[in-house]
Order: sequence, then C-alpha cells, then structure tokens
Amino acid sequence: MAPKTVKHRAKPASRSSRPTPRLAARTARKAASVKAVRAVTVGRPAVKGKPLSRREVTELRQVLGQERQRLMAELEAMEEHTPEVEEQVGMDIGGGYDEDLADVASTTFEREKSVALESSVQHVLTQVEEALERIEEGTYGRCLRCGNFIDYARLKVLPYATLCIRCKELEEKTAR
Ligand SMILES: [Zn+2]
Repeated sequence: MAPKTVKHRAKPASRSSRPTPRLAARTARKAASVKAVRAVTVGRPAVKGKPLSRREVTELRQVLGQERQRLMAELEAMEEHTPEVEEQVGMDIGGGYDEDLADVASTTFEREKSVALESSVQHVLTQVEEALERIEEGTYGRCLRCGNFIDYARLKVLPYATLCIRCKELEEKTAR
C-alpha cells in the first residue's frame, strides 16, 4: 500500500472518481484561462489611463473642498445683493421718465447678468459637489462615458471634470 503523499491535494471535482491525465490537463487549462479572463476584467489592462494615487485624490479633494467654500460664499454674497437691485428697478419703473428708462434698461441688464452669473456659479457648485460625492463613492477620476481614467493633469486644471479629454472632445464635436 502506497503512503499518502501531501502533494496530491484535493482531487478536481468531477463525475469521474479517477481523473484521467487528459481530463486533469483540460481542467488545468480551463483554470488558467479563467485566471487570464479575470486578469483582463479585474486588472488594469482593460481600462486605459492611469488611476489616481491616494495622494492625488487627497489633493484634489482638498482643491474641490476649497472651491466649494469659495462658490458658496460667492452665492451668498450674490443673494444678499440681488434684492437691492430689484428694489431699484421697481422705483425706476414708478418714475416713468424717459431718461429713467435707460437706467431701467441698464439695471435690468445688470440684474439679468447677475442672475445668469448666479446660476452659472450654482451650476459649477453642483458639479463640485458631485465630484466630492464621487470621491466618497470611489468612482472619482473615471470618465462617466467610457470608464477610462481621466488624466491627473486634466483633473488638476478641472477637478470636477466628468469626461476624459477624448470623450470631451467628441462631445464638443457632436454638439456643434
Ligand atoms: Zn472617456
């Protein structure tokens, strides 16, 4: 009776209780190909670009946090300012003089400009907040369209970018 060897571990689970060498080889090949597939789907080669390092994410999170503070302060300042302008417009309309009309027009224009500015500040603030959420979720730095990593250089310039440069260019081309 041959002593049990440690080398022979668990037999491959199969219907045949005595695996033939050919079956064993096939099982090994199958295992190898499964490993290869896993490497492609889980590993980095499937996604283009370089993931952000932890330090880069920390740095960008800080930049985004500061940007959020700045934009919120700006919005607050605008909201304090807007009622004054509206009051002025009301007064001018009540006056009814021709020369006041020019003032009304310019005041209206100013007000429209400030409303547009406010909504654009609000828009950027929303994007900044969404970027911070993506950092929390761990999806930050990936292109929302193709899934590739967005270049760190691009994120440094635009930390709330949602698209890689290629997709952004594509989007701009189709928008035209
Ligand atoms: Zn992309």
